[in-house]
Amino acid sequence: MPFHYDDQNIFAKILRGEIPNDTVAETEHSLAFNDIGPKAPVHVLVIPKGRYVSHDHFAAEADEAEIVDLARLTARVIAEMGLSPGEGGEGYRVISNAGDHGVQEVPHYHLHILGGRPLGRMVQAD
Ligand code: AMP
Repeated sequence: MPFHYDDQNIFAKILRGEIPNDTVAETEHSLAFNDIGPKAPVHVLVIPKGRYVSHDHFAAEADEAEIVDLARLTARVIAEMGLSPGEGGEGYRVISNAGDHGVQEVPHYHLHILGGRPLGRMVQAD
């Protein structure tokens, strides 16, 4: 089944400049901004500017420049926030939710960068 992208999702509106965002960094193909409801002292979202709904959609259809750009911007934010274990930071978590079981709220592909405190176990066994 082809991927369906909803142009009215909130991150599409952010990318079109229709609603504001708290930008952390921006590149040709990607945007990083603070999550409006932070779950940790650092909670940054990194999104491609292209119309992709999920990681698997992005990996399948984005071109290599977009994929590299998103990966490198994510690493840049991690470094700039002082989270990188390789640079003396305390670490972080990068996650991406997709679909119903992933409990994805916004259907525009995004990575959550979380850090600044111990984050607990990855998934609750409930
Ligand atoms: P997900 O459940 O992975 O789709 O996460 C969506 C995230 O987007 C949540 O953490 C929300 O707090 C965040 N969010 C929703 N609207 C905005 C907004 N206007 N600006 C920044 N973050 C937002």
